[in-house]
Amino acid sequence: MSNALLDQLPIATIRGRARIADRGQGDLGPDVAALHAAGWLNACLPVRHGGMGWSCEPAGSAPAFDALRLAGRANLSLARLFEGHMNAVKLVYLYANDALKSEIAATVAGGSLLGVWGADVPDDPVTRSGGSEAVSLKGIKQFASGLNLVEQAVIAVRTDEGTELWLAPTDERERADPAAWTMGGMRATQSGRYDFTGITLDRTSRLGVPDIYFTEPYFEGGIWRYCAAHLGAAEGIYEAMRDSLMRANRAHDPHQQRRIAECAIALETMRLWISRAAREVEAEGAPAGKAALSLLARDVTETNCLLVMDRAERALGTVAYIEGSLIERSCRDLRLFLRQAAPDAKRAKAVAQLLESSTLVEGL
Ligand SMILES: Cc1cc2nc3c(=O)[nH]c(=O)nc-3n(C[C@H](O)[C@H](O)[C@H](O)COP(=O)(O)OP(=O)(O)OC[C@H]3O[C@@H](n4cnc5c(N)ncnc54)[C@H](O)[C@@H]3O)c2cc1C
Repeated sequence: MSNALLDQLPIATIRGRARIADRGQGDLGPDVAALHAAGWLNACLPVRHGGMGWSCEPAGSAPAFDALRLAGRANLSLARLFEGHMNAVKLVYLYANDALKSEIAATVAGGSLLGVWGADVPDDPVTRSGGSEAVSLKGIKQFASGLNLVEQAVIAVRTDEGTELWLAPTDERERADPAAWTMGGMRATQSGRYDFTGITLDRTSRLGVPDIYFTEPYFEGGIWRYCAAHLGAAEGIYEAMRDSLMRANRAHDPHQQRRIAECAIALETMRLWISRAAREVEAEGAPAGKAALSLLARDVTETNCLLVMDRAERALGTVAYIEGSLIERSCRDLRLFLRQAAPDAKRAKAVAQLLESSTLVEGL
């Protein structure tokens, strides 16, 4: 990790605060401010707009990968918000008009956190009506990470022509329902519901044409970003396990050594897969088929994160379950975050690409 900006985030401080937000005794506001102060929110902008091209320009894929890992090590909930921000900025620069791009550059430079809110409440999905100048929204988003922290989100809106992307304001507290997030993990993400009913948007807030959201290799291909965050959390769990074993003078026991080796191999396997996916998906002119690398990397990440958590829990015994400890919280968060999203369908898409290309994975 060589990018100077990566050293700017106060990882230990953020990690120290994680327990407070997990317990609902605070929120991630100070940590989002730390992301801004470290230059990380801005780094997601293209270089020509004052950023570092993290995840939106080929040269920015490696530092973006490392940043997401570091954020995942510090606090997986914060990494989830940062990944959403990175994704939103990328969508704006891929598909929005020039005026919106400039507007977002100024907003982000001022410390604004963005998000991508795609998931609808099934019986009240977000739809739109209206004329040529403006549209009016109706419906509710769920699983919307960063309620009361995200100031604008790229939202998916269903229409008869397909799924549209719009940039919408998300800063009205009375529309947010954080209580709808009743999960045991990722509590600090404040991922509840947001009611868009009655919000009016100017036509210029639309990003691209219907269904542009699903363009590859950027849609499924972008999965490498949340995989990098998962990897960071697994690295934190491994380090906590290793340090705990060493402190207890148990690291030289052959059973524990086997677990240490298994975890080390799992971490490096993930790092190799995800970093390749990031590099090749974000390369200039990458073909759509490269998305399969991220889809397969997602499978690799899930399997190996589960292995790391299992070995850490076995290595430490009951200590791994002390409520609010780094290992307990990280495992609780990671087990939930690994569940997103539609894993069976993603594996099926990757296999379809493997069959179509008739190549080994190295040839994808
Ligand atoms: C911590 C966290 C933060 C999130 N933040 C955001 C956010 O900011 N923005 C956002 O838009 N979303 C967000 N999400 C939501 C996420 O993108 C997914 O929508 C959500 O995780 C899907 O949940 P699920 O497991 O209940 O889904 P399901 O799709 O119901 O999947 C459950 C299982 O059913 C299988 N399955 C799915 N469809 C079918 C089918 N038709 N037939 C048979 N089996 C099927 C799946 O493969 C899986 O095994 C977040 C999720 C989490 C966990």
